[in-house]
Amino acid sequence: MTTDIASDPLVSAIRARIPAVRLLTEPIDREGYRLDETSYLRAGLPRAVALPTTTQEVVELVRIAAELRVPIVPRGAGTGLSGGAAGIDGALTIAFTAMDRIIEIDRENLVAVVQPGVINAHLKEAVAAQGLFYPPDPASFETCSIGGNLGTNAGGLCCVKYGQTRDSVLSLEVVMADGTIIRTGGRNLKDVAGYSLTHLFIGSQGTLAITTEATLKLRPAPPPRLTMLAFFATLESAGAAVAGLAAAGLSPVTLELLDQFPIAAADDMNDLGLDRTAAAMLMIESDMPGVAATAELEMAEAVCRTAGATDCVRAADTQEADWLRQARRAAHYALERLGEVRMEDVGVPRSRVPEMLRAIESIAARHDVRIGTFGHAGDGNLHPDLVFERGDPTAEAKTEAVKKDLYRAALDLGGTVTGEHGIGSTRREWLEIQRGPDAVRVMRAIKAALDPLGILNPGRVL
Ligand SMILES: Cc1cc2nc3c(=O)[nH]c(=O)nc-3n(C[C@H](O)[C@H](O)[C@H](O)COP(=O)(O)OP(=O)(O)OC[C@H]3O[C@@H](n4cnc5c(N)ncnc54)[C@H](O)[C@@H]3O)c2cc1C
Repeated sequence: MTTDIASDPLVSAIRARIPAVRLLTEPIDREGYRLDETSYLRAGLPRAVALPTTTQEVVELVRIAAELRVPIVPRGAGTGLSGGAAGIDGALTIAFTAMDRIIEIDRENLVAVVQPGVINAHLKEAVAAQGLFYPPDPASFETCSIGGNLGTNAGGLCCVKYGQTRDSVLSLEVVMADGTIIRTGGRNLKDVAGYSLTHLFIGSQGTLAITTEATLKLRPAPPPRLTMLAFFATLESAGAAVAGLAAAGLSPVTLELLDQFPIAAADDMNDLGLDRTAAAMLMIESDMPGVAATAELEMAEAVCRTAGATDCVRAADTQEADWLRQARRAAHYALERLGEVRMEDVGVPRSRVPEMLRAIESIAARHDVRIGTFGHAGDGNLHPDLVFERGDPTAEAKTEAVKKDLYRAALDLGGTVTGEHGIGSTRREWLEIQRGPDAVRVMRAIKAALDPLGILNPGRVL
């Protein structure tokens, strides 16, 4: 977009009508909002980037954009992995980094009210100081925002026990595409008045409405976790253990998997002394009270050994457990030290994890691509990371071919092309293949009803 900023009607209208709002117009400033963490995407340069601090400023920004028919890209911290917050040429990016207040922590009702720019880890810390717990726990929790977590219905390491982001939300305040503000719920644990708009907006990736406030469910803080690592000589035995743990009715707070490539990468980065000869490792944690935690890990160990675990070791103390958890969270960055990484996000029913692991292995061999797989195995959600030499000219074509085979394999196993990162702009053509034309027609009807001008994050999801 080469519009002269001084005469750009969007910029002039924002400066005239909301002079207090911070507005980035210099190309060098806007450049930082071109991409999210899907850095290999070809994305557009926003025409301007606004950083509002209040809901009223968001309302006015949306009204101006609607009047001028300018598309809007809502953006949290930009850690997304599906291109949902990536820039669109000529669009206004509304970044929520300056709307980062924890408005209230209501102990009586176990509720927190927050602005969307609050970083997940900051909320966790604030509620922990009051003996409370906010469960949603994406591996990126130290950098991603609550607004982005709502936008993607983020998952993470403890979904296996506490569910995805949507399971911790009571109500949203959102700005609709015409600037109307609505509230979708309240502080009631039970509330079935009308359609659940809260759940419609969560995961909609900024295509239906813009979240300006969220009322979130808290829990009393659980005890510190007990942590175990189980090592396996084959991927299949690790997969069998995952299926076995589900079949045994165990619901550990964490059930994560790393295959050999990320084990070695994480070990190199963190010097943890992991068994690098193992084909796979499971990280299993319990946050049950007292002896129940020990009992849960003993039962988990028995299942792992039956499935063929070669070794099971416990973290010596909470400090060591924290190091291990951090190493798991950083698995993607550990692989990024070795090349250019493209992260995928397939999901399958838990009983089919062994088959999905086998499929990933054979897809990697067939396309001659190094794939390190890790992820939330307890949810059946795996992240095959494709690792290329930097500057490899075949990376793009190979990624497309591998993606196609990965998605086909996941769907054939009754799974999904995205467990938690979203359709965004990277998986759009797969939505209809997975959901079918009738379901997509209903989605389009909802989009058309709520955003008739099509200005909210166009080209994402649908
Ligand atoms: C190393 C690493 C590990 C990760 N681990 C996980 C994981 O374990 N689980 C997981 O689910 N994800 C994970 N992610 C992906 C990412 O962190 C999540 O998708 C996260 O929810 C994005 O939050 P964000 O604030 O960065 O949002 P952004 O990337 O800025 O935006 C995400 C989406 O939400 C929309 N959005 C943002 N704010 C608003 C708003 N106020 N109103 C409406 N729409 C909005 C955007 O338009 C976009 O579509 C990981 C990413 C990295 C880099």
